[in-house]
Amino acid sequence: MMGLNQSRQRAQRGVYTNAKTAFALLLSLAPTALVAQDAGKPAFTSHRVTQSIAMLEPADTNGNVGVFFGDEAVLLIDSHYERNVEALVAEVAELTDLPISFAVNTHIHPDHIGGNARLASYGVTLVAHDSVRLRMLKELRIPRRGGIIFPQPAEAARPVITYSEALSFHLNNEEVRVFLAPPAHTDGDSFVHFVDSDVLHLGDVFRTNMYPIIDQFNGGSFLGMIAAMQIAIELAGPDTKVIPGHGGEVSDRAGMIEVHAMLSLLRDRVQTAIESGASLEEITAMNLSQDIDGRWGSVPSWTFTDLLPIIDSELRAQR
Ligand SMILES: [Zn+2]
Repeated sequence: MMGLNQSRQRAQRGVYTNAKTAFALLLSLAPTALVAQDAGKPAFTSHRVTQSIAMLEPADTNGNVGVFFGDEAVLLIDSHYERNVEALVAEVAELTDLPISFAVNTHIHPDHIGGNARLASYGVTLVAHDSVRLRMLKELRIPRRGGIIFPQPAEAARPVITYSEALSFHLNNEEVRVFLAPPAHTDGDSFVHFVDSDVLHLGDVFRTNMYPIIDQFNGGSFLGMIAAMQIAIELAGPDTKVIPGHGGEVSDRAGMIEVHAMLSLLRDRVQTAIESGASLEEITAMNLSQDIDGRWGSVPSWTFTDLLPIIDSELRAQR
């Protein structure tokens, strides 16, 4: 508990002010944060997943927050942005009288760690994969618009508990398994499995409305994403509920199979084109995603044009 106390003290000593500045800047740069927030609209819509799990969907379409609650403790999955922490805490208070004890970050991106420092100042213990903490030791880079630089997150935002392979919480009469997915969205993607509740939270490895974002600046991999989705599908049963990293609908096994099929289709099409001797430029001209762009390509900041060079380079590297 030493680390937690230290980080609380640091927060009180004013490193937190730096965090505020850093995250304000970060916020001003984040592409998804450019979506104007309707002043009258609540910051989150609460979706009840089970009796003890809820998904808080941010109005600004940034990362969904998972809430696990019961008789003993409250655990959050992801922390959104600092500006919405008060609203987040208020939504949790609608579900339970207990304070938030833990927050697990599914990965390093600003809309999933942005609330960390403030939550830590409230006594919340931050948990993530080793890689998330390591990446917080320097400035961040994310893949939108060719690579956007963010300032280094504040010290108070760093996870105080990290793991390398897997970690289990035993809370509220349930085992919550947090484990490292293969490199996919980033190289520090945590999957969270509520074993008894039969619920998965997959972070941004699973997005139901767009082509997958592969963050090569942070160790992501397209082929790894196919492998990661396969693992999640194998864990799921017919009644499993799946919280996506973004999107307003709680999904299921069929939703994951649909994403996996899309990824596999793109892999196979690009592979066939490469084997025919085509260059990346020639493959780009083939419009290989034309028939499925209506379903997956409607987010302008990340289309097949952004994804294709990543698929192409990974497949060529395998040859
Ligand atoms: Zn992300």
